[in-house]
Amino acid sequence: MPLLFRSTNGQSPAVNLREALLQGQAPDRGLYFPEKFPQLTRDEIAAFAKLPYHEIAFRVLAKYTDGIVAPAELAQMCAAAYNFPVPLEVINFRTFLMRLDQGPTASFKDFAAQMMARLFGKFLREDGRQVTILTATSGDTGAAVAHAFHNIPGVQVIVLFPIAEVSESQRKLMTTLKDNVRTVAIDGKFDDCQAMVKQAFADPDLKHIPLSSANSINIGRLLPQSVYYFYAASRVAQAGEPIVLSIPSGNFGDMMGAIVAREMGLPVRKIVAAVNDNDAFPKFLATGDYQKICPSRNSLSNAMNVGHPSNLARLVSVYGGQMDETGKISRLPDLAALRRDLFSSSVSDERTVAGIRDFWNQFQLLLEPHGAVAWQGFLDWTAQEPLGNTPAVIVETANPAKFPVEVQKVVGWEPDVPANMLASLKLPEDYDRMGADYGKFKSYLLARH
Ligand SMILES: *Cc1c(COP(=O)(O)O)cnc(C)c1O
Repeated sequence: MPLLFRSTNGQSPAVNLREALLQGQAPDRGLYFPEKFPQLTRDEIAAFAKLPYHEIAFRVLAKYTDGIVAPAELAQMCAAAYNFPVPLEVINFRTFLMRLDQGPTASFKDFAAQMMARLFGKFLREDGRQVTILTATSGDTGAAVAHAFHNIPGVQVIVLFPIAEVSESQRKLMTTLKDNVRTVAIDGKFDDCQAMVKQAFADPDLKHIPLSSANSINIGRLLPQSVYYFYAASRVAQAGEPIVLSIPSGNFGDMMGAIVAREMGLPVRKIVAAVNDNDAFPKFLATGDYQKICPSRNSLSNAMNVGHPSNLARLVSVYGGQMDETGKISRLPDLAALRRDLFSSSVSDERTVAGIRDFWNQFQLLLEPHGAVAWQGFLDWTAQEPLGNTPAVIVETANPAKFPVEVQKVVGWEPDVPANMLASLKLPEDYDRMGADYGKFKSYLLARH
């Protein structure tokens, strides 16, 4: 029996990984999630200590691809996708910084995009199908997706991004690709881009266009994001020893990767979901009342300017509740269990800047704004509960060179630009531009298909 994925809205039939991946969002507008999580035994997890990253990826993902991708082919995909280092730097004692910024577009989004593009390419080739990947980005997804799907046969990519909310290098990493990749700058916010994408998916007039999504609503984004938590634990903890993870969160896809790892058997003491001024989640955790932030608030950690994190629907479902795509909760999750397992705090821009400065001064390690939010969130948690001897991993999600202005202001110098980024920054840009107007976007899509 292949593993099945059901929709968080509970109104669509369960499907296998292949269908869940190709559809992106379920027909009832819910998000696909495993009906039940495949398990890794303690021994299987203990064996990770001696394996390179791509082999851990293979052993974790193979639990989902039974009957869909042959093991040898999956192993090959993992080796090709994960050919870059995943540094774990000592901060102090048993607290580490995991840098997920060494992929082709220097953010953690590469981990998921690289794997998803390979799976998509395979499924489309086998079916002789074509697909248009529509994705809204707050900065890094667009670049990761565009690079991963660039020149994959059968795929058109259309990326929407908020023109004023992405940094220059984030933008150039998307707009300098050509061929099957189109980028559209929207005069609006990330939430506008996401709403336009969602509306296109639900629009009956576009039914003839085979749309798919590569956003973190796609389950293909989440599963590969569980792997680096297994990897981190294999490098910093003893077999069976629980760890603490601090994750800078916007749409909560990265954080859900940690939940997936935990549900598969990874011992986790606490997950810190650190957010910027978009504090709907910490408020919900405190009060049980969910109020999305509309419009979302601009912060230095721009990839986390998300007023209503889509993945909360999945988190709520893990804890026995139900939340629809608009954020309406029809059944409350087990709040006591959520509070036991998770901590969340909101970090202001002022504290984000202080985080970059203090971290550099104390440890001579450089953070960018997203990682600084994770660091401050971690400190907020340790102020409430002693860490003791527990190994902890702070997740740095982007390369500081993606935020040269912000970093320069704080530490006084600009970080070195990684070679792969440098190449993109020199190429000519090419993108379309429009207002946050669904009618215009719809015409744009129709004209291209
Ligand atoms: C996307 C992104 C985040 C937030 O990740 P989510 O999965 O949306 O919570 C954090 N940091 C960076 C650099 C990102 O690009």
